[in-house]
Amino acid sequence: MTQSDVLVIGSNMIDLITYIDRMPIEGETVEAPDFQMGFGGKGANQAVAAARLGSKVSFITMVGNDTFGQQQLANFKENQIDTTGVGTGTKSSGAAPIFVEPSSDNRILIIKGANNELTPAVLDQHVDLIKNAKIIVLQQEIPLETNYHAIDLANQFNVPVLLNPAPANKDLDINHVSNVNFFSPNETELATLTGMPTTNLTEIKQAAQHMVQMGVNNMIITLGSKGVLWVNKDTSDLIPAVKVKAVDTTGAGDSFIGSFAHYFAQGEAIPTALKHANQYAAITVTRQGTQKSYPTAAELASLVK
Ligand code: ATP
Repeated sequence: MTQSDVLVIGSNMIDLITYIDRMPIEGETVEAPDFQMGFGGKGANQAVAAARLGSKVSFITMVGNDTFGQQQLANFKENQIDTTGVGTGTKSSGAAPIFVEPSSDNRILIIKGANNELTPAVLDQHVDLIKNAKIIVLQQEIPLETNYHAIDLANQFNVPVLLNPAPANKDLDINHVSNVNFFSPNETELATLTGMPTTNLTEIKQAAQHMVQMGVNNMIITLGSKGVLWVNKDTSDLIPAVKVKAVDTTGAGDSFIGSFAHYFAQGEAIPTALKHANQYAAITVTRQGTQKSYPTAAELASLVK
C-alpha cells in the first residue's frame, strides 16, 4: 500500500521553451535569441512543486514509449516522486512548444500524446493510491472522463480533491465536478466555466460565488501579480501576492497549486496555506523556466526570512 500526502493525477509534457523578441507573422521566419528544453505538463509541474517542498507525492500519468518518456520517468525519480502510477502509452510523449516574450508573457501549444491514454480504466488499476492520499490534485490536460472518475473515486473514499480547470475546456460538465473541495481557476478560466464576466474583482467574486452556490466548497482564483482570491460560503478574501520582479511567469500557476496542496496536506489552515503558496509562486516568477524555477524547501527557507 502506498500512502501519499499528495496524489497528482494528470499530464506530463516536455517543454520546448523558445525565448522570442516577437512572434513571426504568417510565412515569416524570425530568429529567436534563446531556447531551452524543460520538464513540464501541468500534472508533473504540480507534483514536482509539492515534492520539492517535502511532500510524499504519488503521480498517476502516462508517458510515451520514446526518449522523452524515459527522461520524464528519470525526472520524477530524481524529484523523489513515487512512480507506481506511471504508465507507458502507445502515442508520443506529451510536448509543449512555449514562446516567452521579453515582457515575460507566454504563449503555449500542447500536444497531449500519451496523456490522452490516461483513461478512467487506468485509475481503476490504482485505487490503492487514490484511497490513501491526503489530497488529490487534478488539471485538464487528460480526458475529462478520467477527472470525473477520479472525483467519484475520491468521494467514495472521502479524499479531498483540488481541481485546477486548466487549460479551460468548454466541454467540462460543471455538475460533475461541482462537489470538489477546492476549485482553482485563474480569472480567464473562471469566465469560461461560468459564462460570467471576470474583468474586475467585483465580477470575479460574483462568478466565484456562483460556483460556491453550485456546490464547490472553496473557490481559489489565482490573479497573477494581484495574488489569490478565496471564496466559500462564509468568506471572500483577497490574499495579496508577494511583490517581486517577474522575469518568467511560465508555470507560476502550477507552482501555486502544487505548493498549496503540499501545505494543505501538512495540515495548514486554508488562509495560511494560501499565503505560503503565494510566497512559493512569487519566487518561481523571478527565475526562468518551469520546474527549474521551483525551489526546494531548503532553498525556500533561505529565500524567505
Ligand atoms: P500560468 O501562467 O502558469 O498558467 P495562472 O494564470 O494559472 O498561471 P497566475 O494567476 O498567473 O496563474 O499565477 C499564479 C500565482 O503565482 C498567483 O496567484 C501568485 O501567487 C503568483 N504570481 C504570479 N505572477 C506573479 C507576480 N508577477 N508577482 C508575484 N506573484 C505572482
